[in-house]
Order: sequence, then C-alpha cells, then structure tokens
Amino acid sequence: MKPSLLKRFVYFGNKRYCPICEKYSRKFDKYGINAREDALCIHCNSLERHRLVWLYLQEKTTLLDGSPRKVLHIAPEPCLETKFRRILGTEYITADLNNPKAQIKMDVTKIPFDNETFDVIYCSHVLEHVPDDRKAIREFYRVLKKDSWALILVPINVDRTIEDLSVTNPKERERLFGQHDHVRKYGPDFIKRVKESGFHAEIVLPQDFLNTDRIRVCGIGKGTPLFKCNKN
Ligand SMILES: [Zn+2]
Repeated sequence: MKPSLLKRFVYFGNKRYCPICEKYSRKFDKYGINAREDALCIHCNSLERHRLVWLYLQEKTTLLDGSPRKVLHIAPEPCLETKFRRILGTEYITADLNNPKAQIKMDVTKIPFDNETFDVIYCSHVLEHVPDDRKAIREFYRVLKKDSWALILVPINVDRTIEDLSVTNPKERERLFGQHDHVRKYGPDFIKRVKESGFHAEIVLPQDFLNTDRIRVCGIGKGTPLFKCNKN
C-alpha cells in the first residue's frame, strides 16, 4: 500500500535509505508498542530487522544471485516476500500457522515436507511464540538439505533465556515475556538450542558486515543478531 501524499511530504528527504524497496526518506517512521523512533519504512513497511536480513542476504550469501533455490519462508513478512518471490520464483514457499495469505498452513514443530527438501529456511520472530522451540529447530534441520542453512531471528532481550511453560495466561505472559503470546524471553544462549539440533551456528551482528554509516542510513538499529545455522 502506498503511503499517503501527506506522509510522503512529511518524510520527504534523503537521509535514510531502505535497501528493500530502494527508496529514500527523511527518516523512518515510529513503530512498536513502546514506539521506537526511526524504525518503519513508510514505502514498504520494512523494519530494522528486515533491512538487516536483506543486506545480509545480499552481501554475505548467494541466495539472491538468480540461481534456483528451494526456500521456505516461515511467517512471511510482506516487504520481503514480494522481493523473494520476484527473485526466487516458484521454488519459493511461504508457510504460516495462522496467516491465510501464506501458501502452506503449517505448525513449525510438524513441518509437512520430506527430509532434505530445502536449500534455505528463513524464520524470523516466530520461535518466541512456540512452546517446543527445540522441536521446531529439529524440524528445520530435518527438512534442510545437506550443506544448506537456516537464518533464524528471535528477539534477544535478556542476558539468559527465561521461560516457564506453565504460564499460559496472556496477561501473565505479557508481564513475564513482554507480549501476550510470547512463551519466553531469549538471551544470546539461544544459540545453544540451535546447536543441540546439530546445526553449526554463528551469531552475526550488523557491525560484523556493515559500517556505521550504512547502519545509520539504512536504519538497522543496534545489536539485532542474526543466527546463521549451517547444516553440514
Ligand atoms: Zn522500504
């Protein structure tokens, strides 16, 4: 959906650049419950993490080079889905538990595909909703081909993962885990859960491959980690 004329006028400028829709603006819009400044692209609705993922895929992987790849995109974000579909074509599959716009209705703990089906899985901000996240990660491992990889993002907002699966009350979940439908808060030790399934995983931070100017201009935000999980 195009931004209104007023919005385009208010945000007109060239201090910010969205690498996904390739458009400039004066700044990114506020976004979130505790509204973060400089977060949302008014043109394509991308957030910091989407722009980070896009730049990572462009600069550090060969996913977008036009060669055919079978990709599973879980809980597809529209700003990325549009681009992926254009580049990856029919081998690109979207899946979601609830979103009717996704191609496959799917529970990440029971992925309805054979072993070693996919070249790439991209799954962002899903596992914090999933009680048995370890099972989901095992499923990612199972359906990936050998020498393939998953890119997983979860919000990291504590030093050490906290969870209590006996908490099911939405208000209590919000108090403990920050959102009514989150079942835990992750810390950087999330990587241990990933490795338990057999993945060789690494944490990638924006500053590992982008300079300070690029991080600011593309509105990447600070410290959002990507978990690159390789199946060797
Ligand atoms: Zn954009």
